[in-house]
Amino acid sequence: MSSPVASLRTRFRSQRIANFTESVIREMTRLAIRHGATNLAQGFPDFPAPEALKRAAAEAIYADINQYSITWGAKPFRDAIAGKYARHYAMQFDPEREITVCCGATEGMIAVMLAVLDAGDEIVLFEPFYENYRPDSELCGARTRFVSLRAPDWSFDRDELRRAFTPRTKAIILNSPNNPTGKVFTREELEFIAGLCQEFDTLAITDEIYEHIVYDGAAHIPIVSLPGMRERSILVNSMSKTYAVTGWRVGWVLAPPDLTDSIRKVHDFITVGAASPLQQAGVMALGMPDQYYVGLAAEYSGKRDHIVASLEGAGLKCSIPHGAYYVMADISRTGFHDDVSFVRHLIENIGIAAVPGSSFFLHPADGARFVRFCFCKKYETLETAREKLSRLQG
Ligand code: GLN
Repeated sequence: MSSPVASLRTRFRSQRIANFTESVIREMTRLAIRHGATNLAQGFPDFPAPEALKRAAAEAIYADINQYSITWGAKPFRDAIAGKYARHYAMQFDPEREITVCCGATEGMIAVMLAVLDAGDEIVLFEPFYENYRPDSELCGARTRFVSLRAPDWSFDRDELRRAFTPRTKAIILNSPNNPTGKVFTREELEFIAGLCQEFDTLAITDEIYEHIVYDGAAHIPIVSLPGMRERSILVNSMSKTYAVTGWRVGWVLAPPDLTDSIRKVHDFITVGAASPLQQAGVMALGMPDQYYVGLAAEYSGKRDHIVASLEGAGLKCSIPHGAYYVMADISRTGFHDDVSFVRHLIENIGIAAVPGSSFFLHPADGARFVRFCFCKKYETLETAREKLSRLQG
């Protein structure tokens, strides 16, 4: 006889989530805790958020900013978001009609997709992909078409991308700087993508949470800033990575007024709104001087170099990331046959948690030679990781 729990699941589980698996990234964090391993799996900083930002949040709570904000975001924060895009990209967004504050980019992405996709619609996704995008599309009943980013430089084949677009394509999802590859899409690549969006009348839904984390002179270009894209781009971003506050869950969505209308409805019914005092602190964050962003990129650039040296020293061939804070390492030379057994060994015997590359691919075999390491950590943590990694070859 099946257990009561199993039978409840069989009886009541929705078809919508039937294919869902547990998030591998978050599972790795749990394993790291269980084994006392250094967590280079889930991408969150182990160092404090900026002092002034923490103070602004505490002051907002003491100033009694503790009740609901307007569902699509407190006005001062929407104004600050508009100000940010004016300052960094010379783009004007109307805080009243084009900006929605949400609970992190994760909620932003699903709210957007639920607002624009119908069952049977197709979306185009670059692979490897951040794991949330697949369940997001499944919740919408949308069909996903994958286009390969090819190691080591993660370039894509333009013909393959073109073939992925069909009359049923509603949107392409673009994450640049990219998780997990560290690829920063170039202007030429973005122009090609923008051309396809216009030719096939589709939307570009962009996840830009690593926008300020770029190296080697790479520049982040929001596709919405390209000619002809303003009316067909939906930009999702958040405070998490830029200000080291991944637990705050404060993000935003920029979209043309008509689309913003739809997105706000979904957002309202699933979350009501993001935390009011943290939105208030966000006003201070988004007003930080340019020097903050320069320092952020420089700091992570040094950390990238540190972890790449440690990984290469341990016999793992790295694709050098030009943005975001992850490295995809190739384990082919380690003697391990697949990413999952390698990561298990890494956690249990070496004391480091990382993410098996297969979790970023549709077919696990395609990612079996990759493991993702994150480096948004204190130098002290990266140094511990270096010492532990040196035991890999022992
Ligand atoms: N974006 C981060 C990562 O890829 C965190 C994911 C999450 O757990 N929300 O590791």
